[in-house]
Amino acid sequence: MAEAAHTHSRGILLPVAEVERQRGIMDQIAASAGGRYWVNTYGCQMNVRDSQTLAGMLEEMSYEKASKQDEADLILFNTCCVRENAERRVFGNIGHLQSLKKERPGLIVGVCGCMMQQDGSAERLLKSAPFVNLIFGTQSLYRFPELLQGALNGERPIAIESDPQGVIAEGLPAQREGNARAFVNIMFGCNNFCSYCIVPYVRGRERSRATEDILREIEALSVQGIKEVTLLGQNVNSYAPQGGGSFPKLLKRLEGLVPRLRFMTSHPKDLSDELIEAMAGSKTVCPQLHLPVQAGSNVILQAMNRGYTREKYLELIQKLRAAVPDIGLSTDFIAGFPGETEEDFAQTLNLCTQARFDSAFTFIYSRRSGTKAAEMEGQVPSKVQHERLSRLIALQEGITAKRLRAMEGKEYELLIEDHSRRGKQDFMGRTGSGIAVNLRGGGLRPGDFVRAKMVASGANTLRGELLSQ
Ligand code: SF4
Repeated sequence: MAEAAHTHSRGILLPVAEVERQRGIMDQIAASAGGRYWVNTYGCQMNVRDSQTLAGMLEEMSYEKASKQDEADLILFNTCCVRENAERRVFGNIGHLQSLKKERPGLIVGVCGCMMQQDGSAERLLKSAPFVNLIFGTQSLYRFPELLQGALNGERPIAIESDPQGVIAEGLPAQREGNARAFVNIMFGCNNFCSYCIVPYVRGRERSRATEDILREIEALSVQGIKEVTLLGQNVNSYAPQGGGSFPKLLKRLEGLVPRLRFMTSHPKDLSDELIEAMAGSKTVCPQLHLPVQAGSNVILQAMNRGYTREKYLELIQKLRAAVPDIGLSTDFIAGFPGETEEDFAQTLNLCTQARFDSAFTFIYSRRSGTKAAEMEGQVPSKVQHERLSRLIALQEGITAKRLRAMEGKEYELLIEDHSRRGKQDFMGRTGSGIAVNLRGGGLRPGDFVRAKMVASGANTLRGELLSQ
């Protein structure tokens, strides 16, 4: 796969006429089809958001969400290709539908998402599951109504567009679950080519939505009663819309539109002082940041093509903590990257200790064909990778527990997100810094803001006592 130029594409806005054409097809399907749908979503928040667009389109086409997959007339698989073994798992899950398809030949099965965007993946899928009715990649999502119409007419449409510049489609519906929080895309694609990552090859180059379009979407969500918006992008810090602008400027424009704003993901190399100032000066942006570090050794960071050093990363953490006291910091780590020595890994453990993250997502390096790292020498044996991962998890668990214990006795404002698993009177709320708090409170509803005192801490969450509503 050729690596394209590292420039920020302004994005090609899909012509309004094309969106209207797809909407016209939605109306035609709504008048004649309908039924129940089920969407299986794999991977990251970007895929979750794409599935919400698919669900939104389906509801406009008179489909209703089924209560379980086996009852659906249309089943979609929105796939992810970040992990090498994901293809086997997804193909296995699709293969299980063969008997259902035999019982009900009218069942429509569609497969979309990043995995389909990879060379040869659609062909491999059709070989292993010839009963699949439609296949499309991430860049053809807006064409779903047209493709579905083809499938309903007995065709087998396949749409994999792989223009690295990609498009931005405005004005598509979305069906968001829950009524307190929402994801909003601000940009698509990635220019960074971290050596282990397949995303830039399947999602194309960075392209940013216009600030006015983002504003309009969030204003509409606010009218619907949404209390918290998470801005999404593979690297939100390099948001650069046509006509000028930057991510800190966008945050300022969004100030006060909803009570809480979060964003992900931030790349450390693009985290500017201006952004730290914008966070510090905002009443809307939550004091929380997910800042993936991946490794603590400069040799490994360079091999990963991350564009920063451990010193630079730790300096950023210091600046953030000075500007935004009580900021909740989380990160991602990869253990066992090719060439990682025991000394390199000791540097990762050391960085983890110094940074005192509130939480960390830890992964074993997984070889992903099509990426530079897959071809690197010094692939670390699986046994060593697992042993390193266990040490890293144990270290972070100790830090997380300590940080949660330090919150006991303090009071925080929480946004109630949902019922907790314990029962109807039990709820889960979240602090601005992103910590989940379980508490008991009759009459609470998702979307309520409450004050609570922290009375106990567990491995990853706190227990709170309601003070006021
Ligand atoms: S920043 Fe790196 S890890 Fe994140 S999507 Fe881009 S290439 Fe992948």
